[in-house]
Amino acid sequence: MEISNYLQIKKELPLNVNLLAVSKGFGSQDIKIINDKGQNDFGESRFQEAIEKKLLLKDFKDIKWHFIGRIQSNKIRKIVQNFDYIHSVDSYEKLLKISNIAFEEHKNPLIMLQVKLMDDPSKGGFNPKDLLGKWDEIKQLKSIKIKGLMTINPKGLNSTQNIKLFKECRNLANSLKLHDCSMGMSQDWKEAVEAGSTWLRLGSIIFGNRSY
Ligand SMILES: *Cc1c(COP(=O)(O)O)cnc(C)c1O
Repeated sequence: MEISNYLQIKKELPLNVNLLAVSKGFGSQDIKIINDKGQNDFGESRFQEAIEKKLLLKDFKDIKWHFIGRIQSNKIRKIVQNFDYIHSVDSYEKLLKISNIAFEEHKNPLIMLQVKLMDDPSKGGFNPKDLLGKWDEIKQLKSIKIKGLMTINPKGLNSTQNIKLFKECRNLANSLKLHDCSMGMSQDWKEAVEAGSTWLRLGSIIFGNRSY
């Protein structure tokens, strides 16, 4: 646990940049420690792991849960039931299913659409052209609130390349009149802030090294 990193980053961040503490790989005790410092937003990428922690932390009413992992279609109902935000919606088909299930469940999840700005076989995401082409249909979907876009840059880029991709995400969000960009992880968060991120997703820099 790197509490001093957490406090330092919080101090440095502009007011309009939110910090999502990515707690995957860490237990409920670690979440409690930083919740006690005022951190309420926690990100998880594996459904089963998240649910176990959520149960242990059910009395911590100020915690908001964000799903950031790859979405399996057969888990969508459970994700909608259990998460306030979903950052990793990477196709229209999944978005449609989230919308239909949210209606049935009387939920109104906050959504980030994941975009893929550069070829990366290990990552999902809307291609920007397809997103623009589908936008009118997307806007019609009920029972969801699309807050912004999310992106994960490929590993191994230099600082200039990271900023360039993050700015593409910011510009695309602006052109769709979306407020949020969920971008920036432990290795590239400074570049993401410079490019206009509104949600940093920080794991290892706060919690330490994970086993996955
Ligand atoms: C794990 C993960 C993070 C956090 O990564 P760190 O490099 O540990 O900061 C952020 N976003 C997503 C989608 C992740 O899966």
